Amino acid sequence: KEVGGETWQPGGREKVCLSVCFGAPHHQLWEEVSIMDEKNIPIRTYQVCNVMEPNQNNWLRTHWIRRGPAQRIYIEIKFTLRDCNSLPGVIGTCKETFNLYYLESDSDNERYAHESHFAKIDTVAADESFTQVDIGDRIMKLNTEVRDVGVQSHTGFYLAFQDVGACIALVSVHVFYKKCPLAVRNLAQFPDTVTGADTSSLVEVRGSCVNHSEEQEIPKMYCGADGEWLVPIGNCLCNPGYEERNEQCQVCKVGYYRSLSSDGGCRKCPLHSYSMKEGATSCDCDKGYYRSETDPAAMPCTRPPSAPHNLISNVNETSVLLEWSAPLSSGGRGDLAYNVVCKQCVRDTQRCMPCGDDVRYSPQRLSLRSTRVSVHQLQAHTNYTFQIWAVNGVSKHSPSLEQAVSVTLTTNQAAPSTVMMVQSKDIIRDTLSLFWDEPDKPNGVILEYEVKYYEKDQNERSYRIVKTTSRSADIKDLTPLTSYVFHVRARTAAGYGEFSAPFEFSTNTGECRVRSSCCWRSHELWVRIYVDPFTYEDPNQAIREFAKEINTSCIKIEKVIGIGEFGEVCSGRLKLPGKREICVAIKTLKAGFTEQQRLDFLSEASVIGQFDHPNIIHLEGVVTKCKPVMIITEYMENSSLDMFLRKNDGRFTVIQLVGILRGMASGMKYLSDMSYVHRDLAARNILVNSNLVCKVSDFGMSRVLEDEPEGAYTTRGGKIPIRWTAPEAITYRKFTSASDVWSYGIVMWEVMSYGERPYWDMSNQDVIKAIEEGYRLPPPMECPLALHQLMLECWMRERADRPKFSQIVNMLDKLIRNPATLKRTAGDASRPHPSTLRHAPSEGSAPSLGSVDEWLKIIGLEQYGENFSTAGFCSLESVLPMSHE
Ligand code: AMP
Repeated sequence: KEVGGETWQPGGREKVCLSVCFGAPHHQLWEEVSIMDEKNIPIRTYQVCNVMEPNQNNWLRTHWIRRGPAQRIYIEIKFTLRDCNSLPGVIGTCKETFNLYYLESDSDNERYAHESHFAKIDTVAADESFTQVDIGDRIMKLNTEVRDVGVQSHTGFYLAFQDVGACIALVSVHVFYKKCPLAVRNLAQFPDTVTGADTSSLVEVRGSCVNHSEEQEIPKMYCGADGEWLVPIGNCLCNPGYEERNEQCQVCKVGYYRSLSSDGGCRKCPLHSYSMKEGATSCDCDKGYYRSETDPAAMPCTRPPSAPHNLISNVNETSVLLEWSAPLSSGGRGDLAYNVVCKQCVRDTQRCMPCGDDVRYSPQRLSLRSTRVSVHQLQAHTNYTFQIWAVNGVSKHSPSLEQAVSVTLTTNQAAPSTVMMVQSKDIIRDTLSLFWDEPDKPNGVILEYEVKYYEKDQNERSYRIVKTTSRSADIKDLTPLTSYVFHVRARTAAGYGEFSAPFEFSTNTGECRVRSSCCWRSHELWVRIYVDPFTYEDPNQAIREFAKEINTSCIKIEKVIGIGEFGEVCSGRLKLPGKREICVAIKTLKAGFTEQQRLDFLSEASVIGQFDHPNIIHLEGVVTKCKPVMIITEYMENSSLDMFLRKNDGRFTVIQLVGILRGMASGMKYLSDMSYVHRDLAARNILVNSNLVCKVSDFGMSRVLEDEPEGAYTTRGGKIPIRWTAPEAITYRKFTSASDVWSYGIVMWEVMSYGERPYWDMSNQDVIKAIEEGYRLPPPMECPLALHQLMLECWMRERADRPKFSQIVNMLDKLIRNPATLKRTAGDASRPHPSTLRHAPSEGSAPSLGSVDEWLKIIGLEQYGENFSTAGFCSLESVLPMSHE
């Protein structure tokens, strides 16, 4: 019976059946019989049952079976066998076994071979035999026996069943061989493999990598005799752009990538990158983002860093120490470094050339990791510009000036000397108010002070820093009842001076005790507000409260240096007990004054006494107990700013002039923070000391209305310095910090024109008219456009549109930090005639020039209108290029 051709896979192993037919010529006593199985299904069997006769030898033989690729075949026999004991009279002849034989041959030519040519495979016995009872009960005791034998030598074989006197029914014979089925292990595919000839043999098979993968180590497996794969070795890995899923290499989706075959699965594109196609091996960077050659694909795309900031130079003879702060943005990378560019510049020109090879850098010039470098062997008395570039691994993709900060300096400049004395003024629970003296040798304009402090009982390394532009600082958020150690140092363009010696102060649990009578707690900040001395019922009380009485024996008057409103102004010396002798200015009140004049005179002291700022004139004290009554202030060697500028016409660099403006703006910011409105800010009321430090002065109470030399009586009475005053203050006496900002813009103009008179010789009335019509002062010669722009903003008609002093300070600081922004000037025009006054960009209108006639009218020359038009000058644009000639 043919049962071959089918395969089945019990337990993952594969079995392949071979076709089996039984050959009729050899049936002998074997009979083909149909019987019903237990379920009453008819089945065909071969039966033999000659148990009564001895010496039985009945052969049932198969046709030739082609072995195909099989090397070892399995024969599964299902049969029933009669229990000899259940048959009467068969003792001695009845058997309960049969024999299984085979004969190999290359073709069916051994069909009639003699039985003796067959080789025995085994004697097969039944596990169970049946009896008469079982027949009656229709119980089929089926036995299943499997035997196997190697069949390598020929292309086929015969099988034979020898009965030696048993009662047997063969129900089925399956002949099969075993295969290890096609399998994928470690991304290598192993083909169907027929098991070996021996029961213990292993067939070694080499696998091939699945699609989109490559061999990492030769993949191998062994096919065991039982049809099972054993011992997988080696492996394949998915190619880049693919990942292993379900034993296959599947393509990475859009937005994902896989760069190396050794990586895990596909990964989402890192930050600031994308992939547009499937199977990406890397992701492209978003616009403006980059990857360096060495960046791993998993790293986000990054940007060049922003510029370093807070570049501070510390010049020491012909060496300079440069220190800076890391850029606010590192571009998202960790390989930030700095390069130093050194340029030697010719004084007062824009000409610079790279520094020579003899300049030494420590630790090095390029790829600096630290935020400091010292530069040595510079030339003496020479201007240098240093640029510090922040660079990282992607800088070369997008180098821009934004990544550099620069400083210009002169060698042989020395840093300021040490702050000698730090004192505590007010102590409240968690705040200490400190103040200190300027260093003996500031050696330049002091840009700021740095206060370093720490708890006395703590490690010095856990210090904190507060920076301030004034000679005082409120140190907040301290622990009550705790001792602190303070050090102060000053900074100029040449860098920081040494820290002062330690000064120790303790916080207390006390209440607010501030020298000025006002102290409000608002939004957790202590705000000090200026107190008008005239709000005191007794102005003498204000003088006592805000000004220190000085004993005349401490004062030495040396010479007269000026004439003030109330009397002479002298220079001299002041030596207070326990303090070093200092130069002072002494304002005196001339004899014969009235009590009101005395109070007016001293009111200036009660105003100045409330201020403490490096850009506000400092009050040393007053003499009121004996005559002459005096006000003692710090001595300002270079006297008033307007005179000083005229004397030094053209001698300063733009940076020095901006330094002067910055100092004044800082002083004015301090005043506006204290709600003090100056009302008479003008270059003549700014004093200059030997270090070019400018200080706001002239705080007399009456002078705005009565004794201002520039003052003009307005329609409502009282005198106002028209050229310096904002329109709303002239028209309806609205004096505010915003009107001080207008005046500050005029002072800027005075400074940049080295003391030129604002609006030249125009009359006050014409100035008022011109301003009303929207005209503004033009940029002085060589004035950077950025500064003139700032002036125009100070002169906005709407006072709310003008910048605040804090903004002005910030803008000037920005300009100082980026001197390149000061390079653009309005051109090489000569000092302009009033005719070139600019129209202010106010009220949203674009700056524009009026008609020739309008202009002539403004300057009172309207009768010449015809002359201009006949000469072909019909627009102001055509008038502008005209020379005086
Ligand atoms: P005053 O009336 O207060 O503006 O002073 C008149 C003149 O005295 C000023 O223009 C200055 O030349 C001079 N002066 C006033 N105060 C000082 C000072 N602290 N240091 C030097 N000179 C001063």
